[in-house]
Amino acid sequence: MVRPSWVEIDLGAIAHNVRLLAGIAAPARLCAVVKADAYGHGDVPVAEAALEAGAPMLAVALVEEAIRLREAGIDAPVLLLSEPPEQSAEEVVKWDLIPTVYTAGFVRALSEATQRPLRIHLKVDTGMHRVGATIADAKDLVATIVADKLLDLEGVWTHFAVAEEDGVFTRHQLETFNGFVETLRRVGVEVPVRHAANTAATLLYPEARLDLVRVGIGIYGQRPAPGMVPDLDLRPAMRVVSHVSMVRRHPAGTRPSYGRRKALPGDATVATVPVGYADGLPRALGAHGGDVLIRGRRHPLAGTVTMDQVMVDVGDDPVEVGDEVVLLGSQGIEEVTADQWAEHLDTISYEVVCQIGPRLPRRYVP
Ligand SMILES: *Cc1c(COP(=O)(O)O)cnc(C)c1O
Repeated sequence: MVRPSWVEIDLGAIAHNVRLLAGIAAPARLCAVVKADAYGHGDVPVAEAALEAGAPMLAVALVEEAIRLREAGIDAPVLLLSEPPEQSAEEVVKWDLIPTVYTAGFVRALSEATQRPLRIHLKVDTGMHRVGATIADAKDLVATIVADKLLDLEGVWTHFAVAEEDGVFTRHQLETFNGFVETLRRVGVEVPVRHAANTAATLLYPEARLDLVRVGIGIYGQRPAPGMVPDLDLRPAMRVVSHVSMVRRHPAGTRPSYGRRKALPGDATVATVPVGYADGLPRALGAHGGDVLIRGRRHPLAGTVTMDQVMVDVGDDPVEVGDEVVLLGSQGIEEVTADQWAEHLDTISYEVVCQIGPRLPRRYVP
């Protein structure tokens, strides 16, 4: 017998979201961002579902993440979103990855590591100020790359800092980027793939879609910000599921769990569920209004989330050991959303899904 707790990933929802977003982005193509184990959803199955649904390209943050995809037999183009350490240049060539570059040192390392033509994408910083070359440095880098017979400048790109909330700054970044592309054109450098948009910009700024969009959160069925594009039929792909392991009746005023922080408001049945903060159910959720679903109804957490288990106040509702508990996702017509967790926890849906931990096995449903 195994622990009755897992994460269910709906690959049909992933495929649906990819098709939906690719349709919105067209004629720009969609690059499916599967970094961080596909935002906690499982990188290989999600990548396969996204490619199957028509995404022509994948992106990850790390060389290690890209190698995982290659070792699983995925041969689609894989873009690295950041420069790895220079010592990784040989791995980049060996595994046929598409590196992002923004320093002269890494461009040189790639040039030395490759014996065949290597596609590269140059990233410019237009206001995010995380990574990327300044516009001035980028012009020098382009000259170096263009002069190198084996380096093929396939793409130039930038990344938005506030696409979900500030149109003025986002348009300013886009204009800076377009200006840079125009400067290259004037000196005879035509770069075939220009890209800038994440999910939010893909949805909100048609002019930012350019040749390619880099979509992450949307393919998982989450909105970049709560309430954005409310009519869009995105389908959340992740459900965190467990089953009641114990049931006990307690009088009003009982204070279950560590710290005895919360008194039961009335006589109540308390159900124990074997999922805890070691699985990515944040400890703070107990204190800040987290709910779960049992038999299609919402019930509040009864006290602090512990490492491996949590208690639920089900009031006078009938509940039995073995009943399905949904901590995140839908059950019947009720749904606990990542945005609801995010609101309780003062974070964003991205962090909620990414932190659902590896101790919970992933089960994939087609
Ligand atoms: C993670 C990431 C994305 C995807 O962003 P979403 O908001 O999840 O769509 C796109 N571009 C870069 C550079 C990223 O790091």
